[in-house]
This record gives sequence, C-alpha cells and structure tokens, in this order.
Amino acid sequence: MIHFVGAGPGAVDLITVRGQKLLETADQIIYAGSLVNPQLLACAKEGCRILDSAGMTLEAVVAAMEEGEGQGWMTVRLHTGDPSVYGAIREQMDILAQKGIAYDVVPGVSSFCAAAASLQAEYTLPGISQSVIITRMEGRTPVPDKQKIADYAAHQATMVIFLSASLLDGLQAELLRGGYAADTPAAIVYKASWPEEQTYTCTVGTLAETARRHAISKTALIVVGKVLGPAYDRSLLYHPAFTHGCRQAAPEDQQYGDHIGQETEP
Ligand code: SAH
Repeated sequence: MIHFVGAGPGAVDLITVRGQKLLETADQIIYAGSLVNPQLLACAKEGCRILDSAGMTLEAVVAAMEEGEGQGWMTVRLHTGDPSVYGAIREQMDILAQKGIAYDVVPGVSSFCAAAASLQAEYTLPGISQSVIITRMEGRTPVPDKQKIADYAAHQATMVIFLSASLLDGLQAELLRGGYAADTPAAIVYKASWPEEQTYTCTVGTLAETARRHAISKTALIVVGKVLGPAYDRSLLYHPAFTHGCRQAAPEDQQYGDHIGQETEP
C-alpha cells in the first residue's frame, strides 16, 4: 500500500497525527527533498528505506514504489504542504491504478495556510474578498489561457501565488496590468513555519524591490489583496442582529458598528 502524505509546511509538528503515525511505521519513505523538512524523517523506524525524490524521475519513483510492493512494504510518499497543491500526485496515482497498486492520500497543512498564520491574516474578509485564488506565474511550466496572473488580478480577490519567488518583476507587472492598484497591500512569506521564516509586508508596487532587498528568490509565497489592509466588515455569523440555525438575534441589535478599520487615513 502506498500512502501519499502531506508533510505540512515545514515545522515538524505541523504534520497531521495520521501522517506522523504512517511515517513511524513505514518500511519505505520517498520524500520530496527540495521542500520537506528532513527532521520529519527522524521518526522513521530502523531499517526504513528513505529516498529523496528530488533527483528522481516519475518512473524512478514508481519503480521504487513497485519494488516496495514486491517486498510487502508499506510506502509513504511524503509531499510538502498538502499533496493536492502542486504536488504532482495525479500522475503517480494514475500509474499506480494502472498497475493495480492500492494507495490513499493523507492531507497536510498547505504552506498557504501557514503563510496566513505567519501574517496573522484572514484570507476571506466580509466586504473585501470572499475568494482565495491559488495560482502561479508562468515559468517553464505553461499556464493555460485565461488563467494568467492578470486575468485573476482583475477579480481583486485574495491571491496566493506559489512557485514565483524568482519571477517577481514579471509578477508585479502582471498584477498591475490586471488591475491591482500599486498601493494594494501585499506580502512575501519565506519558509512559513520553519525556524528561518521571514515575512515582509509591502505593496504590489514594491513586491520585486522588497524581495531583492531581502534576497528572497525561492521557497516563498506571495500574498496579495486588501485583506492585508485595515478595513473589512464584521461577520454576520457573530453579529447580534443576525439569526441563524444555532442562535436567535439578541434584542439589543446593532451593538457594534458593521465596518471595521478605515480604507484610507483620515
Ligand atoms: N504542496 C505544497 C506546494 C508545493 S509547490 C503546499 O501545499 O504548500 C512549492 C512552492 O510552495 C514553493 O515554491 C513555494 O512557493 C511554496 N512553499 C512551500 N512551502 C513553503 C513555505 N513553508 N513557506 C512559503 N512557501 C512555501
């Protein structure tokens, strides 16, 4: 059996309990060495075969999995963050299915969640953004038409941009071309949840310069949107005037104002 496991964003205690148990009992661990924290492997049992997939092809990874199956091993395929986000797991699962090898997936804490925690941000704020766009700049991996950064920037929703820390001049230009104002709040989160984590808040207009100043060119997420700014509406769910399945509106409705923060300085 093959278990695809999300390793979480980096901190060793941000893997799930289920993922940790599988790591402890695996006979073989194939981990994405470029981003998975190697300290996670310290819990592997003695004799566990550990392979770093960073230098392997899809074919070599599948061959190692097949070999494990032949030996009656339990294999953990350890991917950074959550495997469903830029994890390249579909191609592995499809080959395993063709070969009749059983597998399952254990989710993980994606780095975009860890970045929000680092920034103490909420991606979905009433009145500001009710959507989060997870995307990337086009690099050597092409991005389909209608899914370019500028297309998404037009929505003015929160954007979390992966795999683009080395392309920030282009990213900044695309965000501006798509309609974000240069003063839209933005942030760069480097190695969220790792001991060496760094966060820099800036604006769309200063993204590239900020990354250059701090020598950030990889393992970073770019967060863009007014949710990083001061203004938003309070939630209806916890509003005294709002009745829902679990609560009746209180008689002293409207105890608080509905808008928090200011769009601009007075
Ligand atoms: N499956 C992973 C993403 C893999 S793609 C997840 O769910 O997080 C690799 C990209 O993810 C990196 O280029 C970087 O943009 C981002 N990334 C991964 N871990 C990160 C971290 N701890 N901090 C910031 N960005 C991270």
